[in-house]
Amino acid sequence: MPINMRLPGAFVTPRRCAAFLAAGALLLVPATKTIAQPASGPSAARPSVLRTRNVVLIVTDGLRWQELFGGADATLLTRQAGGVADTADLRRRFWRESAAERRAALFPFVWRTIATEGQLYGNPEAGRDARTQNPLKFSYPGYNELLTGAYDPRITSNDHPPNPNVTVFEWIARQPGFRGRVAAVATWSAFRRIFNRERAGIPVHDGWDAPFATAPQRTGRQAMLDELYRTSTRLWPDNATDALMHATAKELIRRDRPRLLFLGYGETDEWAHAGRYDLLLQSAHAVDGYLADLWALMQRDPGYRGRTTFVVTTDHGRGDGPARWKDHGEDVDGADRIWMAILGPDTPPRGDRVRSVRVTQAQVAATVAALLGLDWPAASPGAAPPVREALSP
Ligand SMILES: [Zn+2]
Repeated sequence: MPINMRLPGAFVTPRRCAAFLAAGALLLVPATKTIAQPASGPSAARPSVLRTRNVVLIVTDGLRWQELFGGADATLLTRQAGGVADTADLRRRFWRESAAERRAALFPFVWRTIATEGQLYGNPEAGRDARTQNPLKFSYPGYNELLTGAYDPRITSNDHPPNPNVTVFEWIARQPGFRGRVAAVATWSAFRRIFNRERAGIPVHDGWDAPFATAPQRTGRQAMLDELYRTSTRLWPDNATDALMHATAKELIRRDRPRLLFLGYGETDEWAHAGRYDLLLQSAHAVDGYLADLWALMQRDPGYRGRTTFVVTTDHGRGDGPARWKDHGEDVDGADRIWMAILGPDTPPRGDRVRSVRVTQAQVAATVAALLGLDWPAASPGAAPPVREALSP
């Protein structure tokens, strides 16, 4: 459904616009790109003295760089432009005089911890550039790019069938030391196709499925999570709420001890499409809290402490100002601008002052692999190289 057919405040919004872009032509697009099947067998040996043994790749869907680097947007803190129900309350929570104060109020973990102990990419106002390679600027093409390291022009719809490309997750799950230790949890029910769950053979929990329904022995907490998945009001038919997914992810970390984990939060996209800037800011602030919660959980755990890197990013940007903030897609200027945040023992603490001025979404896959001592571009020719600044001493 076209973006501009969405009504501000509508709770049930068709998921992730731009599925309409080429739905009819979906299967007719010729394969203009040869998709390399990654080589099997051992990859390049661990090249150096990296300390990372575990990586969590965290994506919050469609969260703009404008909020991450500038905090609440003054032009959207109104009922008219931002659909805000209680402007005084929202301003009290997230409005501050300077951008530095605003962003710290909205994203305290990002700006107190990642900005001092890790790295941030993608602030155009500081001359930094992070973009999608794909020109489509919506979800499936973006997730494919960041998980495979390349833009695939065959993928032109969010309804695309199971991914023909092998993701870096599928490949790493076959490497020594990673069997049974790779997983994905996400709110959006498309991830089973994006990861090609059937072929990849890795657990992918997404959408509203009860996550522990088939577990041989459920704990009380797991049974309660299943109950909440079954009984919560479904604001979006194909996208579960972030809080449920986050609690599920923590259960899976405790139970399955993943070394490579994907987490996909979805509300930051949904509330923007719905035209609710107040609920968008609330969800964005909640995602920051989830990052802090997961980081604390893993730093308390001897198996993860000091040996775990977080790579945090988004699948696409959005437009600018009251006219375009809700939208993204091929025709939306600036929606190719994304951001990345990296925090871990091998990433020098340079905040948003990293030397590199240009990174792309396609570099995420190789960066995840390199942090684990693996060479994804060697296995998947055509994949973009890792972000070296995140790995160099
Ligand atoms: Zn969207």
